[in-house]
Amino acid sequence: MANIYRKIYKEIKKYPTIVIARHIGADPDALGSEFALKELILNKFPNKDVYAIGNPSNRFKFMGALDKPENIDYTNALLIVLDTPDIKRIDGAKISDYKNIIKIDHHPVVDSYANIELVDDTASSTSQLILEFIFKNRLKLTSSIAKNLYTGIVSDTGRFMHSYTSHRTFELVTKMLKKTNLDFTNIYEPLYMRPLPEFRFQGYIYENMEVTPSGLAYIKISEDLLKEYGVDSASSGNIISELKCIDEIIVWIFLTEDKKSNLIRANIRSRGPIINEVAAIYGGGGHKFASGARLTSWSQADNLIEDLEKITEQYQKNKASVS
Ligand code: AMP
Repeated sequence: MANIYRKIYKEIKKYPTIVIARHIGADPDALGSEFALKELILNKFPNKDVYAIGNPSNRFKFMGALDKPENIDYTNALLIVLDTPDIKRIDGAKISDYKNIIKIDHHPVVDSYANIELVDDTASSTSQLILEFIFKNRLKLTSSIAKNLYTGIVSDTGRFMHSYTSHRTFELVTKMLKKTNLDFTNIYEPLYMRPLPEFRFQGYIYENMEVTPSGLAYIKISEDLLKEYGVDSASSGNIISELKCIDEIIVWIFLTEDKKSNLIRANIRSRGPIINEVAAIYGGGGHKFASGARLTSWSQADNLIEDLEKITEQYQKNKASVS
């Protein structure tokens, strides 16, 4: 593994233009690793053109501004894609434009699309991998790089709670905090501050979600309902992880209508059964316990609920037979 971090550094050194991309539906890990890598490269090589691209996220705009480069000379450009296992979810870059691509990711492999692939699906986050990259190459950590990486790690680990938070995560974060003296307590407010309508909407979800005897919770959220509460479809993604500590629920799914994109977004989470294989049947994917999909109809949504119910029931049966 140490070698690949050096190899990536050497590759970066070669190119005058570097474009950094990540997945659609930007989240703090994708954005944090993207901004941190851009700053790292520019600090070391101030004469390079380095762009962090992709659609901006309103919710996380406090993390920084994205670039909209024009007239890229693709023959001399390197594309680095972060946090994105599949080609279809790369935001804003066409991989056929580039001869050289690097992928850095912590999701299980879906597509192999890069010349160099640094994939570690036991890492808590892509931000953690960027931190490894920094220490392996003895690069300079600034407080703004540390801020972005800390935000990414804290967010993707659910404040160091989700699986794949490891002693390595803590080692790297401790080393980073010692080196930069980062005041990390200031990071939580912008990251976790949410408007009151979203909390009211969260109340609606708790009141109205269905919970099956085996422990599957599900709710269908129409666009009219979102309008009634004054929230948008991204709110579901902000709320989904909050159900992790409900005793009766093992697997849970929000199905949220997005008329503009003509789809239904599925946010799926689990405290036991592996869900990314089920999500993949519906063209989605993700991690073992945190997955998503984009569905085209409510009947497809019903089928997904049925499939999740099956694995939840099976999980409960297996647990009962062991105890
Ligand atoms: P979300 O519920 O949107 O936070 O997504 C949870 C995880 O599932 C993320 O880490 C994504 O990698 C993955 N994911 C979400 N939507 C999709 C999709 N349409 N296709 C593949 N993976 C997805």
